[in-house]
Amino acid sequence: MKQDQNIYIIGAGLSGLIAAYELEQAGFSPVILEASDGVGGRVRTDEFKGFLLDRGFQVLLTAYPEAQRYLDYEGLNLKKFNPGAVILKPGTAFSIHDPFRAPSKLLSMALSPVGSLKDKLKIFKLTQMLKSKRIEEIFEEESITTADFLRSFGFSDQIIENFFKPFFKGIFLENGLETSSRMFKFVFKMFSLGHAAVPEKGMQQIAEQLKGKLTKTQIRLNTPVKTIEGSQISLLSGDQIHADRIIIATRPDKLLPQLKGQFKPYRKVINLYFALSHSFIAQPMIALVPDDQFLINNLVFMTDVSKAYSQNGKALLSVSITKEVKDMDKLFSLVAIELEAITKIKAEHFEHIKTYVIDEALPQVEDLSYQLPATNTKVYDGVFLAGDYLLNGSINAAMTAGRKSAEAVILSIQPTY
Ligand SMILES: Cc1cc2nc3c(=O)[nH]c(=O)nc-3n(C[C@H](O)[C@H](O)[C@H](O)COP(=O)(O)OP(=O)(O)OC[C@H]3O[C@@H](n4cnc5c(N)ncnc54)[C@H](O)[C@@H]3O)c2cc1C
Repeated sequence: MKQDQNIYIIGAGLSGLIAAYELEQAGFSPVILEASDGVGGRVRTDEFKGFLLDRGFQVLLTAYPEAQRYLDYEGLNLKKFNPGAVILKPGTAFSIHDPFRAPSKLLSMALSPVGSLKDKLKIFKLTQMLKSKRIEEIFEEESITTADFLRSFGFSDQIIENFFKPFFKGIFLENGLETSSRMFKFVFKMFSLGHAAVPEKGMQQIAEQLKGKLTKTQIRLNTPVKTIEGSQISLLSGDQIHADRIIIATRPDKLLPQLKGQFKPYRKVINLYFALSHSFIAQPMIALVPDDQFLINNLVFMTDVSKAYSQNGKALLSVSITKEVKDMDKLFSLVAIELEAITKIKAEHFEHIKTYVIDEALPQVEDLSYQLPATNTKVYDGVFLAGDYLLNGSINAAMTAGRKSAEAVILSIQPTY
C-alpha cells in the first residue's frame, strides 16, 4: 500500500502542520518530529502570572488567502484591531484612521498632522491601485526597497517618518525599510482587504486549531532532529529513523550540512510585557513611536484587543523593539523611562511581566516570492522543504510552503495525483 509510506515531517510550526493536514487528506499518516514542547513554532503563547503572552507581538491578517483556506475564523473567535494607528510623541498623540481602505475617513484625516493632504490622497491612490492588482502580479513586479518605493510614489518625508516607517518597521522587523516593495504592497493590500486580528485566547490558538484537524498524524514533541543523511533521520537522543519521505519544515541548514551558509541571518525583535491598572490607549489599536531617539517602536494593549489576555483585571501592554540593544540589563528601566516620557505615567507604575528576545523572528529572503512550484521544494529524492523562508516571512507563506511540500511528496509517491 502506497499509503503505508513512512513520511516524517520535521517541525510542528504552521508549515509542518499544514503539510501533515494535506498528507492526511491524501490518505497518509505522517509523523511530526518537533524539538520543542508544543506546536506552533514561532506562533506560541505562554500563560504567565495571569496573562496570555504571545511570544513576540504578531497578528493574523484575515485577508491572507491561505489562512482563509485552512482556518475557521469563527472557531478562533478572532478579535480585530481598529485599522490605522495611534502616533505617540512626547507631549502629543494623534491617530491615523483606516489609511488602508476608508476614503470616507480621508477628510477627517486631512486635519491630522500625520502627513499632508497630498499624502492622504496618495494613500487613497495606492489603496485603489493595489486593490485592482492580483497578489501574483504584485510579486512579479520590480523589487526595490520599500523606502525607495514610498519616495518614488510621491509620499512626503513627514508621512514616511510618522507612519510608514514605524508601522512597517514593526512588521518587517528592520529599521531602514529595506524590505522589498513587493512585500510592502502585499501587506498593504492585505490590510486594505481585511483586518489585523488575534484569536481571543492568543496566537497559538491558530496552531492548536490546525493540530485539532489532524486525526491520523502522530506528533512527537521534545524530539529534536540532529541530522539527515539520505533517508536516515538521526535524533539528538541518538535514535535512528528510516523514512520513505521527509519534509523539513524548518530552515534546513543545521540538518543538511550541504546547505550550510546558504541563508542570511534572521531578523530579530525584542518584546516586553508590562501590566498597568488601565490602558492609556483605550482602543484596540497599534500605537507607534516614530521618534528615532526612542528604543520603543510600537506598543499595543493586548487587553484592548482581547480581554482574555488578562485574567487578573490588569491591562497588558506589549512593547516591541526592533533596534539593536547594547545593554540588555538596562533595557527594562530604559523602556519604562521612555513610557513615562510618552505618557506622563510614572515609570514605577509599569510592572514588568516578561521580556522575550526573539533572535530568529523573520527570515531574510533574497528574492521574495508568493508562489512555489511543488517541484521546487525537493532537495533530493525523498527529501523536501517547507517553511516561510522559501517565500517570505509570513503566516501565509508558511502555510503555502507546507501545502506545496505535501503536494510534492504525494506526487513523488503517486505521479498521477
Ligand atoms: C515576533 C514575530 C512576529 C511576527 N509577526 C508576524 C505577523 O504579524 N504576521 C505574519 O503573517 N507573520 C508574522 N511572523 C512570522 C510567522 O510567525 C512565521 O512566518 C511562521 O510562523 C513560520 O512558520 P514555519 O512553520 O515556517 O516556521 P516555524 O514556526 O519556525 O516552525 C519550525 C518548527 O520546527 C521546529 N524545529 C526546528 N529545528 C528542529 C529540529 N532540529 N528538530 C525538530 N524540530 C525542529 C521548531 O521548534 C518549530 O516548531 C512573526 C514572527 C515572529 C517571531
